[in-house]
Amino acid sequence: MTDHNPAYADACERCGQYDVVPVAAIRDGDTGIVAGYRCPNCRAAWTCGWGIVPGRTIPPQPGPAFPDQHVSALLHEQAAVNRAHKHTARQDPA
Ligand SMILES: [Zn+2]
Repeated sequence: MTDHNPAYADACERCGQYDVVPVAAIRDGDTGIVAGYRCPNCRAAWTCGWGIVPGRTIPPQPGPAFPDQHVSALLHEQAAVNRAHKHTARQDPA
């Protein structure tokens, strides 16, 4: 079967640029990632959550020397939000 999106590419909501490949990603639990994008066309930055698909290449974690600190900050922020949501769900099963 062909994977039509082998690199977790996403489209830019601002300018419509498609197939934007993530520049970095952070693991989100055991089964997901938060991927960070920088549009090569309009320079918009965003994140997108994905379930990990076997066979796809997971983008590198943004280390301290990662060149795009804005995307790195967005990734850490989104990952923290996701963790907080899971924590809340565990504490309040209703
Ligand atoms: Zn764009």
